[in-house]
Amino acid sequence: MQKTSKIIGKILSIIISLVLIFIAYKIYSLNNFNEYIRAEYNSGLSNFSRDSRIKYSKTDSYKIENTDYNDAMFFKTIPVVPNTSYKVSCMVKTQEVINKEENKDAGAHICINETAQKSDNVTGTSDWTKIEFIFNSKNREEVQIGFRLGGNYSNSKGTAWFSDITIQAGISNETNNWNFLCLLFDETKVDLNINGTNKSFDLNLTTSDIYDMKLCIDRFKSSMQEMSKGKMKIKYDVVEVQKPITSMSYDDTNGYYVAPYDIKDVLDEYIKEGKYDHIFIAFRTGDINSKNEIPVNDWIGLGSMEYRNIGFSNIRLPNSDSNYIYKYDERINTFPEEVFVHEFLHTLERNAEEYGYDRPELHSYENYGYKNQNKEGLKQWYTDYTNKQIRSSKNELVGLPEEIFTKKPSKTTDFEYSRNLDHFKEPENIMEELNGILKKIVNLFNIIGNGSKNLENTTVGA
Ligand SMILES: [Zn+2]
Repeated sequence: MQKTSKIIGKILSIIISLVLIFIAYKIYSLNNFNEYIRAEYNSGLSNFSRDSRIKYSKTDSYKIENTDYNDAMFFKTIPVVPNTSYKVSCMVKTQEVINKEENKDAGAHICINETAQKSDNVTGTSDWTKIEFIFNSKNREEVQIGFRLGGNYSNSKGTAWFSDITIQAGISNETNNWNFLCLLFDETKVDLNINGTNKSFDLNLTTSDIYDMKLCIDRFKSSMQEMSKGKMKIKYDVVEVQKPITSMSYDDTNGYYVAPYDIKDVLDEYIKEGKYDHIFIAFRTGDINSKNEIPVNDWIGLGSMEYRNIGFSNIRLPNSDSNYIYKYDERINTFPEEVFVHEFLHTLERNAEEYGYDRPELHSYENYGYKNQNKEGLKQWYTDYTNKQIRSSKNELVGLPEEIFTKKPSKTTDFEYSRNLDHFKEPENIMEELNGILKKIVNLFNIIGNGSKNLENTTVGA
């Protein structure tokens, strides 16, 4: 009898141990984010877990649940080769994802942590959808790729599941041929809240506006080629857009302007095509005859913006057709394409910085002794800026580096012959999983050893 109860006791303890191991494994699996770091902006509002029920393939999905409006992500640091195009893809499913602010570039998406670079979003309730995020590593050797619910522009609530994360390296087109798109928006039809009062605006491009824009973009092409002494070649398309601009963005510095996301429906088609390296949009914000005027802070062009990697500039038509800013006239204005040149140079100025080159600020011409001239504005400054021929106080030649003319944005067409990389490969068997656990323990000891704080639940940055 004693022997039997001993055996039963042993069996029981084995069963209990197995159950405990199973429970421990389940708890571990539910919380195992592999090498990803979890982060949320307002702590305590987001739950991160692995989901074995709602999943796209055999691997458990990664789930973020924002119980209230928050910005939350899990991210991983991966090595990258500088000046290379990458595409990160994943499957996303959402349930009742709502952004706090309407019409903002936020929701469930892929991003680079601490930057504004991101993919398109999934919001609302949707079944598994593929999202892709293209970026260029520029001068970076590593990046933190985040899978995010929320964003820089709005917080989100609801639930998002991420699965099947992959990354590919593409081949950047390193020629100096740039392809521009100039969208002429026939109508600006927006309702804006101006100092607490709702106002409706409906403004249209005139025939003379369209004529001027077509002339300017053509002059921009020859001017940039000439000014850069052949360092870049330009092709362009002009497209008149009948669909009105119905949303505008606002900031204190500029007043109202058109952010790329305000016209995303129109832009997304062109981005998908992967044909263009820079996009200008032209529109009206005022009309002297009807005394209808959207408040802008004295800008005629706005640049240094990006949409899904592509440089993006606003060209504002003046309120009156008799304004000469975009008209060629030998006595008044021999450089009517100046706004196009200026705004595009803002993009090159920004690229140069992001690739790690020193260059003067585009607005700093006075510091180098240049003046705005009567008929041709700052043409000499732009020419010297483009050719690195500006004499600095240290008697050095400064300006844009020649290489910048071959560093165009990464686009869908860079991935026709791409390579799959395994930075996001999931552990496939128990040995790989154990390996991951060991790595984590080693990392934990390193963190404790360095006396630095645990990185879990750090703050998401813009
Ligand atoms: Zn400027």
